[in-house]
Amino acid sequence: MEVMQVLHMNNGEGETSYAKNSNIQRKIISETNSSLKEAILNIMCNNKEVPEGIGIADLGCSSGPNTLMVVTEIINIIYATCRKSGSSFPELRISLNDLPGNDFNYIFRSLPAFFQKVKEEKGAENCYVVGVPGSFYGRIFPRKSLHFVHSSSSLHWLSQVPVGLATNARTTLNKGKLYISQTSPSDVIKAYVSQFQNDFSSFLRSRSPEMVPGGRMLLSLMGRSSIDPTIEDGCYYQWELLAHALSTLVSKGLVEDEKIDSFNAPYYAPCPEELKIAVEKEGSFIVNRIEAFEIGWDASVSSNSSTQCEDKKILLLSMGQQVAKTIRAVVESMVENHFGNEIMDDLFSVYGDLVDDYLYKKRAVYVNLVVSLTRKD
Ligand code: SAH
Repeated sequence: MEVMQVLHMNNGEGETSYAKNSNIQRKIISETNSSLKEAILNIMCNNKEVPEGIGIADLGCSSGPNTLMVVTEIINIIYATCRKSGSSFPELRISLNDLPGNDFNYIFRSLPAFFQKVKEEKGAENCYVVGVPGSFYGRIFPRKSLHFVHSSSSLHWLSQVPVGLATNARTTLNKGKLYISQTSPSDVIKAYVSQFQNDFSSFLRSRSPEMVPGGRMLLSLMGRSSIDPTIEDGCYYQWELLAHALSTLVSKGLVEDEKIDSFNAPYYAPCPEELKIAVEKEGSFIVNRIEAFEIGWDASVSSNSSTQCEDKKILLLSMGQQVAKTIRAVVESMVENHFGNEIMDDLFSVYGDLVDDYLYKKRAVYVNLVVSLTRKD
């Protein structure tokens, strides 16, 4: 599977779209608001006067309400700071990056209303937004063009399935599993750890020349609290339950066993220590802070009290089915590419039931890591 070509969140605004099923990621963004504010204020106040222009990039922006939510928050912080200090609003060059399969048209269609709002509320006209399709594991911006880099819920995606575990690998190492599990042999764990280390250092190496000295980076991604990746923590059960749902479809004759054995998610949830070591090893950034917080799976549930028909329909779904919709919006492109489109409805319905059983026994939480970095001078 060519991850860079296949991976995308579900496009559009339909029932299974990311735009309609990204509450949990929205809550994660809200949780990092104070770190966002601290980083932007630092960029603005570190210089004697507010810079004339500020380059900002959101990496892995996807498409949906979350995309412009981050940008809006950044504008709010800059606007409030300028008003307080009596300085004029700087020119903002905002780049929204994602893989080429992302629904950039959805974002572009929402820009006129966004610009209108910024103009009405803040009187700001000097705000420029561009879409930058490409992988953040390589160079995508000109030298020294960025003051602030933001990325939320994206860096846990690897650039490829770990070497040795790809679909066409000759041996099946990770039998019946889709990610690191307690039954995974050490070679599987090593392959995941090494893929993450390579990818994360490529990410830092690529950003290093693109950022101005003193520029700030705020990264928020799924992680784990334990050093041991086989501990049942964070996203562990998300993949275990998906493997279980697929094996249920094997027993119904809808999926072949070998198909499960040959699928390994291009995903890795690191622990804080791994991130710290990787940043120090690459050498271009100072670690200001690495924090972890938990977010319950129940955060998938729509908090929208709107009386719209569709929302009412969603509220009638069980918690498990709502979690399944969130996961479907994220993983469907890859799972469909490997297992075929015909089983998607059955798969995520079984998955929802399994999540319900699981939540009945346990409170499930994701672990989210927030990393704040400064580009060295
Ligand atoms: N930041 C948004 C979207 C998160 S979904 C939010 O918080 O809601 C994760 C996004 O990362 C997806 O849109 C996916 O396509 C993107 N992504 C994954 N790997 C990427 C890569 N190598 N380069 C750029 N974008 C990537």
